[in-house]
This record gives sequence, C-alpha cells and structure tokens, in this order.
Amino acid sequence: QVQVEGLTKRFGNNEILKGVSLAVDKGEVVCIIGPSGSGKTTFLRCLNLLEQPDEGTYALGEKIRCDFGHIGSNTRREVAMHTAMVFQTYELFQHMTVLQNVMEGLTGPRKMSKTKACDIATDMLERVGMLERAGYYPSQLSGGQQQRVGIARAMALSPDLLLFDEPTSALDPELVGDVLAVMRQVADSGQTMIVVTHEMQFAREVADRVVFMADGVVVEDGTPAEVFDHPKHERTCDFLGNFD
Ligand code: ATP
Repeated sequence: QVQVEGLTKRFGNNEILKGVSLAVDKGEVVCIIGPSGSGKTTFLRCLNLLEQPDEGTYALGEKIRCDFGHIGSNTRREVAMHTAMVFQTYELFQHMTVLQNVMEGLTGPRKMSKTKACDIATDMLERVGMLERAGYYPSQLSGGQQQRVGIARAMALSPDLLLFDEPTSALDPELVGDVLAVMRQVADSGQTMIVVTHEMQFAREVADRVVFMADGVVVEDGTPAEVFDHPKHERTCDFLGNFD
C-alpha cells in the first residue's frame, strides 16, 4: 500500500531525513515515536508532499509510483487526492462552519456536488460525535471538538493513507481521551494510518507497528511488544526510559 525507500530531506545544509524507508500494508496502523526534532513531522509532510523531499522513491496505492527527486504535477495531484492529514493545531477554516469545513475538500478540489458532499460530511460528523455542532464555527468549539472535526474532514476524503501529526499534543489533558477514542475507532475501521504521537499507551494498544525515529533515521521498527518491551537499541531504551 505504502512504500517509501531512502527518503532524504534537507533544509539548507541541514539534512533532517537521512534515508528513511518504511512500508505500510493496507489497513495497518503505524505509530511513529521519537525525540523532539528527530524529523517525524517532516517525514509525514513529505508523504503528502507538503514538503518537497530531495531523494527517494515512493509508492502509494495502486497508481502512484514516483521518484521523490522528480515529481510531476500529475503525481502531485494524485498524492493530494489519496492522502489526508490531521494537524496538531487542527487547521480548520475559521470563517466556515463545521459542516462547511468538512465539505470543502469534497466540493473544492474534488468537484463533488454539494448534496453528495453534504451527505458524506454529515455521516463523518456523526462518526466523530460532532453532528449536533455542524452549524458552529471553530471558535465556538473546544480544542478536542475542533480536532474531531479535523479527523472528520480528513476521513471524508476517503484517503488511501491518513496521516496524524501529534493530533493530541495541543490539547488540554482532559480532552485527549475523546480524540484518542475517535482515532481508535478510525483504526478499527481498517483505515491505513501513520500516527506521529507521544501517546505511548495509544501506540501500545492501537498500533500494529511502532517505529522509533531519531536524528532522521528509523532506529527501530517492530510490533508494540517488540519495541516497548524488548527494544533492541540503546537509543530506544533511553527514549522509552524517559516515559516511565
Ligand atoms: P517534534 O516532536 O518536536 O514535533 P519532530 O521529530 O516532528 O519534532 P520535525 O518537526 O520534523 O521534528 O523537525 C526536525 C528538524 O527539522 C528540526 O530541527 C527543525 O528545526 C527542522 N525543520 C523543520 N521544518 C523546517 C523548515 N521549514 N525550515 C528549516 N528547518 C526546519
């Protein structure tokens, strides 16, 4: 489903990703953990081309096969159509209602009819428990509610790959649980997802695989039991030790 090989990304002379490879099967949930500044967010942003990678190859779904160094506008469009992202700070349009926020990606880039987009958006808002707030504006919602709308908006696009960039780290602690519960439900629905997170309990319980990244490389990649209970690398042990 997703295959990334040898992804490198530099900002100026600073090489942030140093040949990252990762394969994710259809329906798999992969959590990426690692210290601050190790390149986790940059990696996610390269997968939906919000950042332009320098080198590497990328395969996504049935159709997309590309060389990161030479990405054409068709590929760019295809990647945008087949991926969706949930951001740390929600990134909802403030001047649009909840319903309009979820419909926007369908009626805009995907040119879907308003009626069909409204049906899909309504269904997604119901799934995240936000249908009764469909007419609210983002500023009238808590952070946790905004993030649930962010998840509904991403899922409405039926992406082959759903990316979550530290979706709960901007939330007050008492709001984290609701968002994680929605993410768990999305994971159970068979959605292929990559989640950058500091929520170790979530990673342990929900991920099929956990990837530990440090200094722009994948240090360890295994089942939650392998990575959390029997880490092979000292850097993984050190990092996990800080969470005890
Ligand atoms: P955190 O857990 O703190 O979010 P992270 O592992 O997600 O960290 P990134 O946000 O990917 O790390 O950042 C990795 C490095 O890349 C950092 O040193 C950061 O300063 C640098 N970086 C990220 N974006 C840019 C940019 N647009 N221009 C220059 N440097 C950048």
